[in-house]
Amino acid sequence: MLTLEKVDAYYGAAQALHQVTLSVRPGEVLALAGRNGAGKSTTLKVLAGHLQARSGSLGIDGKRLIRPTPEMLSRLGVAYIPEDRQIFPSLTVRENLVISTVAHASLDGGWTIDRVFDLFPRLKERRRAYGQELSGGEQQMLAIGRALLCQPRLLLLDEPTEGLAPVVVAALVQAMKEIVAEQAGVIIVEQNFTVPEALATSFSVMDGGRIVWEGTKADYLSSRQDVMALLSGLGNGAEPQPA
Ligand code: ATP
Repeated sequence: MLTLEKVDAYYGAAQALHQVTLSVRPGEVLALAGRNGAGKSTTLKVLAGHLQARSGSLGIDGKRLIRPTPEMLSRLGVAYIPEDRQIFPSLTVRENLVISTVAHASLDGGWTIDRVFDLFPRLKERRRAYGQELSGGEQQMLAIGRALLCQPRLLLLDEPTEGLAPVVVAALVQAMKEIVAEQAGVIIVEQNFTVPEALATSFSVMDGGRIVWEGTKADYLSSRQDVMALLSGLGNGAEPQPA
């Protein structure tokens, strides 16, 4: 299990996260939504070791990590897919995948390039295409494929479906269900819960660097209209509710 406990994080003097607490277990999907600038990407950066918390803690399996780095978290099974996807534009789909396999050859796990191609048949068709030739949806599939070859126990996805056609979003959601069925934990950041609704086991809303609403799937379903209203009101002068 990955846990953030009362994390404050800053960019220089500006505080971006205030007392953020969350956790995700194997086989669980946490959906994190909120308007632009709410602190969602910053939360993922702290979880991936790209930004150090100034106070509070990051822990895995009950152990608090001291000065966590991206390499340390990657070795512990945390795979982070940032918004810009970070694939190699001048390498082919297959080469992008091979590099990930080689970089993580020492890690145990069941993901292979063939299994990534089974999960995303479109990537197999496009295996000789260069990264720069891929559509947004194909790039996202490749980014997830590369992350799976890190044999992750936890996948952190920053707005994976932004700007993608509904048919591609449906393929990604299906793939994510298969990934979760393998007992990976997932944190998915989106502007709203439309896409994560089909996947998530818990839901959190952020605003102003704070978690302003959180609940289980049952909590979300029973107060769905209120949560949607909260999300659409954020940034329009609506008062966030306490977590
Ligand atoms: P978005 O959907 O726009 O990515 P977000 O919820 O992910 O929004 P963050 O990117 O985490 O929000 O931003 C939280 C706050 O931190 C915002 O006020 C933002 O302007 C600020 N911020 C983000 N990145 C940086 C940075 N590299 N340097 C300084 N401030 C930053």
